[in-house]
Amino acid sequence: IIKPADRMTGLPTQFFAKLVAKANAQVAKGRDVINLGQGNPDQPTPPHIVAKLQEAAANPMYHRYPPFSGYPFLKEAVAKRYKEDYNVDIDPTTEVAILFGGKTGLVEISQCLLNPGDVCLVPDPGYPDYWSGVALAGADMHFMPLTAENRFLPDYSAIDEAALKRAKLMFMNYPNNPTGAVANADFYAQTVEFARRTGVVVASDFAYGAIGFDGERPVSFLQTPGAKEVGIEFYTLSKSYNMAGWRVGFALGNSQIISLINLMQDHYYCSLFGGIQEAAAEALTGPQQCVTELNATYERRREALFGALARIGWKAERPGGSFFCWLPVPEGYTSESFADLVLQEADVVVAPGVGFGSFGEGYVRLGLLTSEARLEEAVERIGKLGIFKA
Ligand code: PLP
Repeated sequence: IIKPADRMTGLPTQFFAKLVAKANAQVAKGRDVINLGQGNPDQPTPPHIVAKLQEAAANPMYHRYPPFSGYPFLKEAVAKRYKEDYNVDIDPTTEVAILFGGKTGLVEISQCLLNPGDVCLVPDPGYPDYWSGVALAGADMHFMPLTAENRFLPDYSAIDEAALKRAKLMFMNYPNNPTGAVANADFYAQTVEFARRTGVVVASDFAYGAIGFDGERPVSFLQTPGAKEVGIEFYTLSKSYNMAGWRVGFALGNSQIISLINLMQDHYYCSLFGGIQEAAAEALTGPQQCVTELNATYERRREALFGALARIGWKAERPGGSFFCWLPVPEGYTSESFADLVLQEADVVVAPGVGFGSFGEGYVRLGLLTSEARLEEAVERIGKLGIFKA
C-alpha cells in the first residue's frame, strides 16, 4: 500500500468529475445531451495560428531544448499586446513569465508566496484551481463572498480582522467565472489601496479579458496606477484565441513575483515547445479580427439564450463578460438537485453553483459554448418541465 504525502490529502477532488460521469451515463443511454456545464471553447483555433505552428514545427532549432523561461520574442509579443489593448507598459525581460496555460501559474503563485499558517483570500464562488495551490502550500483559505447585491465584487471592509492579519495573497477574477460579472477601474483602484494598506499581494486572473459585451472592453488590473507594485495578472490564449488545448498562458506585472514564478517553473519545466511559442506570438501580434468575431459570437449566443429564458419565464441578469451565465435556481431546489433534474428530465447539463463554493448555492452556471439553436433548444426543454411560469 502506497502512503501519499500529507499535502496530497489536502488537494480538493474534482467536483465536476461527478457531473461529467452523470452526463456520460445519459449519453450512453443514447440520449441527445446538450452540455452547457463545461467551460471548453467549442470553436477551432484561427487558421493563421495553426499554419504558423505547422511551419515552425519543421524548424530544427525548436527540436532542441528551449531557453528555460521561454523565447524572448514571445514575451515581447505579449508586452506589445498589453500596450496596444490596455496602454500598459510591460518590460518583457523582467515582467513576463510564460506558463503552461494560466492554470499552472494560478497554482504556482500560492507555492511561491505562502507558508503554512498564512492565509489566502479567495472569492466564493470562484474558480476551483485557486484552492489547489493554497492546499499544496499548506496555507489556509479565507473566502470572500461574491453576492448579487455587491455586483459579485468582494467587500474588502467585511473581511474578518483575524484572517486579514494572516493574509498574504488574494485572487480576483474579472470577467468572472462563474458569475459573468465584470469589474471597473474604480474597483481596481480600491483593490490597489486595499493591497497597499494590508500588504496582501493581488493575483488578478484575466482569463476572460477578451470577452466583454455591450461594447464594453474589460479593464485590465494592470491599467490601475500602482498595480504593478502590489501584484500580477494572469493572461491566457485559451479563451481569447480558442487555444485551450495549446496550453499557453502568461503572468505579467511585479518583477519580484515574476522572478519567483520563473524560478519555480525552471524546476518543473523547460518551457513550451518552440513551435507553440512561435504560433502563440503569431496569435498576439497577427490580425486581431478573430478576437472581435469571437466576442460577437458569444454576444449573439448570450442574446439567443436570454431570449429563450425570457420566453419560459426564467429571470436572470445578463453577464457583462466571460462566456458564462449565472442563473438563480427556482425555489424548492438546491443547485445540485436542479442540475440533476434537468439532466435526467431534459438531457441538459448545467453546472451546480455549489461546486464553485458555498456562496454559489442557489445558482447554476451555463456556458455559451454551443450554437444559438442548441442553446435555445436547451432552454425550451427545461421550459417543458413546467417549473417556470412564462
Ligand atoms: N482562470 C479561469 C477563471 C478559468 O476559467 C480558466 C479555465 O477555464 C483558467 C483560469 C485557466 O485557463 P488555462 O489554464 O487554459 O489558461
